[in-house]
Parts: sequence; structure tokens; C-alpha cells
Amino acid sequence: MKILVPVKRVIDANVKVRVKSDQSGVELANIKMAMNPFCEIAVEEALRMKEAGHADEVIVVSAGVAQAQETLRTGLAMGADRGILIECENDPEPLAVAKLLKAICEKEEPGVVLLGKQAIDGDNNQTGQMLAGLLGWAVATFASRIEVSDDTFRVTREIDGGLEAVKTPRPSVITVDLRLNEPRYASLPNIMKAKKKQVDKYTPADLGVDISPRLEILKVVEPPARDAGVKVSSAAELVDKLKNEAKVI
Ligand code: AMP
Repeated sequence: MKILVPVKRVIDANVKVRVKSDQSGVELANIKMAMNPFCEIAVEEALRMKEAGHADEVIVVSAGVAQAQETLRTGLAMGADRGILIECENDPEPLAVAKLLKAICEKEEPGVVLLGKQAIDGDNNQTGQMLAGLLGWAVATFASRIEVSDDTFRVTREIDGGLEAVKTPRPSVITVDLRLNEPRYASLPNIMKAKKKQVDKYTPADLGVDISPRLEILKVVEPPARDAGVKVSSAAELVDKLKNEAKVI
């Protein structure tokens, strides 16, 4: 079985995001970028499936600007076998990404596509579901455990009320949640080896996909600044403030 892992290049989770002065988006110039943390979890899970003998190839794929190749190299340094870069002038919207991934699925015929549950930049949480819809495949979202058997996946899903267990057939789309695993760090020798691994390149036109945006960003603004907190000296004072100042009890 082949496993396809779509990985997105996003602003590093430790960077303080700043809005551009013209409110057209967030500042990306000279900002540290990294692999979306949920995509790291998906790569880790794919590698564990391969190590357990359930898969023979892990392919990482990214749609984005040329520098998304660095994100692919991170996945290859973790242990993925091969990369695919779909080079786009701008960051494509989730529906466009799903259409591009569908075209790659038709070429590669993976047994499972493992995606992050969401990308931490747009917080869309759409791509996996749209991909499954376009392919007509089953989808299990928010996986916190995945067990592979010959032709099915048993997925434990994190839902509001607790955990839900579902069984999906092969091929499936699965989106992964935070508690699934702890991604490994790439070792220096593996970072060096990753430089030599194969990365195929496509454009959206090669895949016959129109990625013109369907959304118009009207403006992006910083969240309102929070008021400073106050320290109280006793539980009684806290109750008094909640009752008489905040009027919430
Ligand atoms: P989203 O729907 O944007 O929140 O993203 C969910 C997941 O879809 C991510 O964790 C990735 O696995 C995948 N994904 C989204 N955008 C891209 C992209 N441009 N290239 C590759 N994978 C992507």
C-alpha cells in the first residue's frame, strides 16, 4: 500500500503573527515557516504504518509556492520516501487543494490519504473532507488512533462527547488529531539523505485543475487586545468581584 500525506507550509507555530498594514493578509516576508503541526502528526503516523509492515511507500505532497519544497524536505528527512510539489503562485484555497490532491490520487492510487485535521494558518478544516467528497471515498476525521488491517482502517475519532470508533474501507481519507502520536525529529544524517530523495514537480495546469480563488478576503484584523488581569488575595474577594463587578454569578 502507498500512503499519501499532504503537508502544508505555514507560519511556524512559535512566531507571533502580524497583520499587514493594508489589512490584506498576514505578514509573510522574512517570517519563519514550518510544516503545519497536524501534517507532522500525519507523516509520523504514515511512517509508523510503514514500519509496522502495512505500507511500502510514504509520499509527501504539497501545493504552494516554490519554497513549499522545504516542507517536503522536512517530511523526507523524517523518513518519507518521495515528494510531490504542485507549484502554485499563491496559497491555493482548500477546494483547489482538494482538486489537486484528487488528481495526484488518480495517478498514485494510495490506499489511504492521511491529512492534518486543519492547517493552523487558515484553520479551515476542509481539505480532507472535500478530497473524500471529490473522490467518493470514505472519510474519518479527527483520528486519535488508527489500526490497519488488510482492507480496513479502524479509526478512533475525537468528538465532543468523547471518542467514536469507526471502520472505513481501503482506500480512505483520514484526518489526524493532536493526540494520535508525537512526531519524531529528523536526525542530521536523515536531513542529508533527504536532499537526494526524489521530488516530482507539477503545475495545476499539468493536473488540469483551475485554482482561481473563489473567496475574496475583505480584510484581516488583529484580535482585540485583552484587558490586563487582576490578582485577588482571597476566594472571598474573587466571589465578591464575580458577583458585584463582573456580575456573572
Ligand atoms: P485545511 O483544510 O486548510 O485546514 O487543511 C487540512 C489539511 O489539508 C492540512 O493539514 C494538510 O494535510 C492538507 N492541506 C491543506 N492545504 C494544503 C496544501 N496547500 N498542500 C498540501 N496539503 C494541504
